[in-house]
Amino acid sequence: MTLSRRDLLKAGLATATWPSLGRAANRGKPKSRVIVIGAGFGGATCAKYLRTLSPTTEVLLIERRSSFLTGPFSNLVLAGLRSAESVTFNTETIGAAHGVKTLVDEVIVLDPVKLSVTTANSGSFTADRIVVAPGVAMRWGMIEGLDATNSATMPHAWTGDGQVLELRDRLDAVPDGGTVLIGAPANPYRCPPGPYERASLIAFLLSRSGRKNCKIIIADAKDDFTKRALFMLEWDALYPDMIEWLPRAQGGEVVRVDTSTGEVWLRGAEKPIVTHLASIVPPQQAAELATSSDLADESGWCPINPADFESKKHPGVHVLGDATIAAPVPKSAFAANSQAKLCASAVAARLNGWPAPEPRLLNTCYSFVSDTQAISVSAFYGAVDGRISVLSDGVSPLTGDTALRELEAEQAKAWYVSITADSFGLPHAE
Ligand SMILES: Cc1cc2nc3c(=O)[nH]c(=O)nc-3n(C[C@H](O)[C@H](O)[C@H](O)COP(=O)(O)OP(=O)(O)OC[C@H]3O[C@@H](n4cnc5c(N)ncnc54)[C@H](O)[C@@H]3O)c2cc1C
Repeated sequence: MTLSRRDLLKAGLATATWPSLGRAANRGKPKSRVIVIGAGFGGATCAKYLRTLSPTTEVLLIERRSSFLTGPFSNLVLAGLRSAESVTFNTETIGAAHGVKTLVDEVIVLDPVKLSVTTANSGSFTADRIVVAPGVAMRWGMIEGLDATNSATMPHAWTGDGQVLELRDRLDAVPDGGTVLIGAPANPYRCPPGPYERASLIAFLLSRSGRKNCKIIIADAKDDFTKRALFMLEWDALYPDMIEWLPRAQGGEVVRVDTSTGEVWLRGAEKPIVTHLASIVPPQQAAELATSSDLADESGWCPINPADFESKKHPGVHVLGDATIAAPVPKSAFAANSQAKLCASAVAARLNGWPAPEPRLLNTCYSFVSDTQAISVSAFYGAVDGRISVLSDGVSPLTGDTALRELEAEQAKAWYVSITADSFGLPHAE
């Protein structure tokens, strides 16, 4: 039997030549090579800063999607406050903006010992280090009746794809007096305030379009959530009687759905809630690539050394962003961007024999509660003895001060422009 080069590549027995693309090709012979997988907030930022900090390192960025919608501001798209285009980014454009070699392809095998990757269509590549920022996957099988094939019927809209548009369009059909149910997962999951910002902005949309008699139920698999007092204060002021939060202790956890009828069963309830629209955000874990390449532990998430985000399971591989175990740092775009800069500095230092950087991380999560008002939580973190700890933190005051909320909404918009410019190269206009 003769094996074709493609067969050999698939079996990981041949190594493809690194693609020669863009400005990065003109920088002389590289002294080291790093592959970055995933061009989201973690991967794209890391690729950019690696190239900037270590000019003798050749960086290959591999992303399976040609374009994607960002999680941040996707709830504004649902409420008709932003266009989908304004939160959509193109992978090739990101690579060109950062001057890194970029492949739109899926990594199907990552060998964390040989430090090699095999892609679906472009062959295999080896590197001195691999950075993996693959995001999250849904943990199917935890909610009866909900799986990957039918979840678009109760769109989670949590991974920056067509479900965001599906959910936006389905909101138009909710009648006044209708019931919208948001299923919020147990911790840990991507974007802790996301379900509650979504409830706020759906309430804004429904009330602005003459549907004040709708009910929004947040069926929660936990008993508390970030910025709870602030969200509830604003819900009472802005959308009286529209939003009902059902914590786990009051039977809030979604255990079963019927996607054909819109019925949702909560734990212990005899009868289902009949919804006009349900957005069920399932429990989550690190994306498939992290689990299939032995980077995740039994929790489903990837243990890392917080000094440089190197995998605790496989030296030479670094994991960033939502896929990691980095609590108390939340799974946010801001945090992924901050982790990426630390990781890029640490990898550049190792490859060039420089001193390791001081591990510091930052996060701010803004949440819109209406078209013009937002609240936020921020923290500054350090890593001591292999553990991440909060050095200082803060949250918007519980005063109901409208001017302050409006100022925070403007700050949130400025943050979005600056983080997308930093991570993806070019900011989008509103
Ligand atoms: C509704 C919502 C609102 C949000 N709001 C905010 C907010 O206001 N502020 C904030 O800071 N964060 C917010 N977030 C969270 C933010 O979106 C995530 O924390 C962030 O995207 C994580 O970045 P990441 O790089 O880890 O993952 P991602 O951004 O998901 O990037 C991972 C990339 O890896 C690619 N990939 C995966 N597997 C492979 C493979 N095998 N081969 C090639 N490519 C692969 C994926 O296609 C994906 O593009 C929000 C999220 C949601 C859902």
